[in-house]
Amino acid sequence: MKGQSTTRREFIKQLALGALALALPNGYARSSREDKRLGVALVGLGRYSTEQLAPALERTKHCYLAGIVTGTPSKIELWQKRYGIPDRNVYSYTNFDQIANNPHIDMVYVVLPNSLHAEFTMRAAKAGKQVWCEKPMALNVSQCEAMINACRDNRVSLAIGYRMQHEPNTQTVIRYGKERTYGRVNSISAAAGFYDSRTGHWRQQKAMGGGAMYDMGVYSLQAARYCSGEEPVAVTAQQSTSRPEIYQEVDETMTFELEFPSGLLAHGKASFGMTMNSLRVNAEKGWYELEPFQTYSGIQGITSDGRRLNATIDNQQAKQMDDDALAILQRQPLLVPGEEGLRDIRVVEAVYRSARTGQRVVI
Ligand code: NAD
Repeated sequence: MKGQSTTRREFIKQLALGALALALPNGYARSSREDKRLGVALVGLGRYSTEQLAPALERTKHCYLAGIVTGTPSKIELWQKRYGIPDRNVYSYTNFDQIANNPHIDMVYVVLPNSLHAEFTMRAAKAGKQVWCEKPMALNVSQCEAMINACRDNRVSLAIGYRMQHEPNTQTVIRYGKERTYGRVNSISAAAGFYDSRTGHWRQQKAMGGGAMYDMGVYSLQAARYCSGEEPVAVTAQQSTSRPEIYQEVDETMTFELEFPSGLLAHGKASFGMTMNSLRVNAEKGWYELEPFQTYSGIQGITSDGRRLNATIDNQQAKQMDDDALAILQRQPLLVPGEEGLRDIRVVEAVYRSARTGQRVVI
């Protein structure tokens, strides 16, 4: 892949060029862009698309569900009827590249198993479509770099489907860290997990990008990064399983400790075997926490001086997609661009390396 051989300096230069491409996305004339609603095609009609994203796209103001891309023909009629999708906006994974000729689709949202994120993001970029890609961005740093390069080369934007940065209580704790409302942050702990009773699922297969760290670990890792405002410099990680008959190839549970330049330590946990959903930040002059911190609704928390963090929004996914659509239409920077997904995957790679070798890994 193209990104594999890029040096650090070249890559930074490319990121800058990427930001330029983002400022001038393909196909939007200045005169008409303010009123436009972006037509979104969902790629992959699994659980997240079906239960969350498609219903959320009925509530968005700046984008709407215009098309579908699926490998399961039996789903097509139902989706067409339910969402009024015309035949011309229906694609398979095989003829997907023809989407380049479809002016009704502005945006492609990749909602496939993790191992397919890189391929479909790059195909969407080549087709000249703006791209949203679900988390985790990809399986490794070189895939992430290739995705960023493809979007830059084709002058389209790339957003990663993190929800929490768009959520108001999360935004409050991010601000506390930035403004040092409770003084310097000293330690962070974040745990994200659920009991997954499924067997034979792609989330249990290594080649598909399965594993708790990829799926849930990115939430704990993101929280450590956005609450500290720093990038980790080293990690120590351990993986464990309570159901080795199911989790033969990938981690059922991952525990990791991140070291930050200021000396701050963050403890992260991710699991498919334990239900947990909490974020706690200890600072010089107090503490604050969110519990739950990454569910689809009901994010709430408290602070050591009794503030309640209980802002509500109608629908997280609708907010995320509307924020991103509006940013593209107004040529503003995206809240969570590809570069942010890449930063996580750099750490995720180090977490896996540490768990495999039993060594502290410098990032
Ligand atoms: P899912 O298994 O329910 O759906 C995956 C879809 O991909 C299915 O429609 C399946 O048919 C299709 N597919 C295409 N090629 C496949 C292959 N080779 N093997 C298996 N399936 C294949 O998964 P999901 O829960 O909808 O997750 C999809 C993506 O969305 C993942 O990347 C996941 O991390 C992400 N996700 C994000 C959130 C969030 O809150 N941001 C929540 C859930 C899922």
